[in-house]
Amino acid sequence: MSGADADVAVIGGGPAGVAAALELRRRGVARVVILDREPMLGGATRHCSHSPFGMREFGRIYLGAAYGRRLQADAERAGIDIRLHHSVVSLGDDGLLTLATPGGVTRLAARRVMIATGAREMPRSALLAPGDRPVGILTTGALQSYVAFHGLMPFRRPLIVGSELVSLSAVITCLGHGARPVAMIEPGPHPLARAPLTLLPRLAGIPFHTGATLVDIRGATRVETVTVRLADGTFRTFSCDGVLFTGRFTPEASLVRQSTLALAEGSAGPAIDASGRLDNPLYFAGGNVLRAVETGGWAFREGRRVGAAIAADLGREPAEAPTVSVLFDAPVKLVVPTLLRRGQSPEAFADFQLRFARRARGQLSLSLDGREVWAKEGDWKPERRILVPIPPGAPEADHIRFHFRERA
Ligand SMILES: Cc1cc2nc3c(=O)[nH]c(=O)nc-3n(C[C@H](O)[C@H](O)[C@H](O)COP(=O)(O)OP(=O)(O)OC[C@H]3O[C@@H](n4cnc5c(N)ncnc54)[C@H](O)[C@@H]3O)c2cc1C
Repeated sequence: MSGADADVAVIGGGPAGVAAALELRRRGVARVVILDREPMLGGATRHCSHSPFGMREFGRIYLGAAYGRRLQADAERAGIDIRLHHSVVSLGDDGLLTLATPGGVTRLAARRVMIATGAREMPRSALLAPGDRPVGILTTGALQSYVAFHGLMPFRRPLIVGSELVSLSAVITCLGHGARPVAMIEPGPHPLARAPLTLLPRLAGIPFHTGATLVDIRGATRVETVTVRLADGTFRTFSCDGVLFTGRFTPEASLVRQSTLALAEGSAGPAIDASGRLDNPLYFAGGNVLRAVETGGWAFREGRRVGAAIAADLGREPAEAPTVSVLFDAPVKLVVPTLLRRGQSPEAFADFQLRFARRARGQLSLSLDGREVWAKEGDWKPERRILVPIPPGAPEADHIRFHFRERA
């Protein structure tokens, strides 16, 4: 775009966006802008009062808030144009962004745009949780924002729903700020976080029920009781003063949904190729917006690689090569990247990232034009990261598909 205000506009100043911007500056790109609606960089890490953050990318362990400050300091030092309190409200096909800022609605034209808007937990409404609508029903992110930014702990005896890594973050936040969860429930048959981590609630004396579903919330003004159907089919009512819905992340992709850019089936994030580029080649994406949800370190490293791909792309005409979609069978839930561009070698993603929707035993395989090129037997667990190297011939193939043969 001639007359652009920026070489690259990065939307979102969490680990992925900051890492991309740092890498762009390191590779000599002059005008790199980060736009974030919050008052500081750091993204979701800012409200985490616990560790571990930063080990892989900075070689030391930070608490979440300190990690966010480190990102802000590094971005300032690198000469990145940081624009806080700037919400991007629309993405133009030509890289023209519309922004809501403290000074009013403005526009910013960029030669390339990186979308790094992260992910969010599903709130009660999206989970269709039944019952009254009293005060005291939150997600982990909302709870941590209350605690970190306002010094408020909104309940003392919440029930925690979910068993992902973030659910353990919820337990730590509760215990560290004077609340004691009455129980933790997981609708699935097994905890979703890895075994050593799920010991935490047990060590803290918090009852942990798998195969347990929330069926009712009662309370006149604030939460008073929650009824749960347990794995054996019986019902149990917990007396509590809050409900914490944890995990069940979904990409924060509303901007993409409202644009002409393509969303990926399965992940609900933007459809990208192996350089992190969208169907419109002016746009790139990285971090948790691609697929909920990874760690801060993973988002940082992914952002850095996409930043390097954007830097390389700035020296070329925008890539108009035809794309081939990567297809998959259930119970595979998502594959990232979801597109390959013909003739173009992967510049940011060496592997396909897959997730299963449920636990399944059997053979996962990858075929190119009907020929099997990779296969592995496994006991595949839901929401665990699976990496499959992108085969060298994949960008030339017309049909790319993951198959699954389930064993009884
Ligand atoms: C409760 C919780 C606990 C966690 N604990 C850990 C942990 O202990 N260790 C760990 O490694 N990871 C942890 N994580 C995960 C880690 O925080 C994320 O992986 C990481 O922050 C993702 O980085 P990101 O850059 O993709 O997105 P985010 O960090 O989510 O950043 C996205 C940014 O985009 C901005 N944004 C979104 N939309 C717009 C818009 N339209 N306009 C302008 N700005 C916009 C947001 O304000 C935000 O700053 C935790 C996450 C949560 C929620």
